Amino acid sequence: MTFHIKPQPGVSQIPVYKPGRPIEEVQKQFGITDVIKLASNENPLGTSPKAVEAIRQAATQINMYPDGKSAVLAAALARRFNVQPEQVAVGNGADGLIMELCMAYLDEQSEVVVSRSSFPMYDVFSHTMRAHLVKTPLKEYGLDLQAMARAITDRTKLVFVCNPNNPTGTALRAAEVEAFLRDVPEHVIVIFDEAYYEYAASPEFPDTIEYVRQGVQNVVVLRTFSKAYGLAGIRVGYGFGSAPLLAPLKLVKEPFAVNLLAQAAGLAALEDDEFCARSVALNNEGKAYLYREFERLGLFYVPTHTNFILTRLGPKMLWLVERLMEHGVIIRPGDAYDLPEFARITIGTPEQNRRLVRTLEQLLTEM
Ligand SMILES: *Cc1c(COP(=O)(O)O)cnc(C)c1O
Repeated sequence: MTFHIKPQPGVSQIPVYKPGRPIEEVQKQFGITDVIKLASNENPLGTSPKAVEAIRQAATQINMYPDGKSAVLAAALARRFNVQPEQVAVGNGADGLIMELCMAYLDEQSEVVVSRSSFPMYDVFSHTMRAHLVKTPLKEYGLDLQAMARAITDRTKLVFVCNPNNPTGTALRAAEVEAFLRDVPEHVIVIFDEAYYEYAASPEFPDTIEYVRQGVQNVVVLRTFSKAYGLAGIRVGYGFGSAPLLAPLKLVKEPFAVNLLAQAAGLAALEDDEFCARSVALNNEGKAYLYREFERLGLFYVPTHTNFILTRLGPKMLWLVERLMEHGVIIRPGDAYDLPEFARITIGTPEQNRRLVRTLEQLLTEM
């Protein structure tokens, strides 16, 4: 029997999101064990041990609803980043904040400017609100900020600047961002998604939170505990913006969007600079190794400011991704990101990286 109840029209616009294949699923499908996942930019070092301990302790309190304001964590973030508590938003992951921004600011009349080959959640929640997506092309595998500025119209409400960009790994420099913001009219909210900030930090990387501190009203900065702090599974992210810009998010959000364990974990992780520094150091080591090996194998890659590398595997990319999976190595195919010859490979532990290279080399000789 056919099903006649249709979702609202925005929903049918949403392309199906294909997350990295779960390890258990791949193990079952191919009847293998010891599968490694280099497909979702998860932290190969694990989780901040301080966060794990905080979760253990908070576990006895989960009969209670969490604080819907995440006030303790928000205050700690305000202190750490030197902003006012009203300029902080805590979300069910950075994804949760992207959803709340779309819910609060978009309707059928709105336009949203995003780049091609960028983070798919911008598209998902913009479509959900029936807003119109305007996509600009990539420029040398990075965002074309000038094209994004030119794409702004009177109807534009949000511009999503993924920096560094997922899945290409490229970063915009401070001067480019400064020039871009001069071109953006006041009615447009610019959202800098800095999920990989900890890996990208450098003197050339823009200090976007400074715009918020300086009282710029239309800039939002998103960060997350999912990547460098290793908390992807518990879901907690945060953002900064002017108080009036963030206020509507509190109206649309789920009352208890950030669960009690996530708030405790985020608070503890924030204190664990040591874990974060180790994550970044391990990543730098793995990055240098993979660059060398990709060059040896004759594979083009895009230099990265993140914990993943966009690599060209050629016309047989999907075949290679599938064969790698059979051999227990999961990477992310680029076709869903408009990059049909590429794959996005998360930098793993030294052992995982060696296994990836060994398997890839073997498959390339079989081709
Ligand atoms: C991983 C990622 C996020 C999602 O972060 P969560 O806090 O886990 O929701 C947001 N933006 C980009 C670009 C990401 O890669």
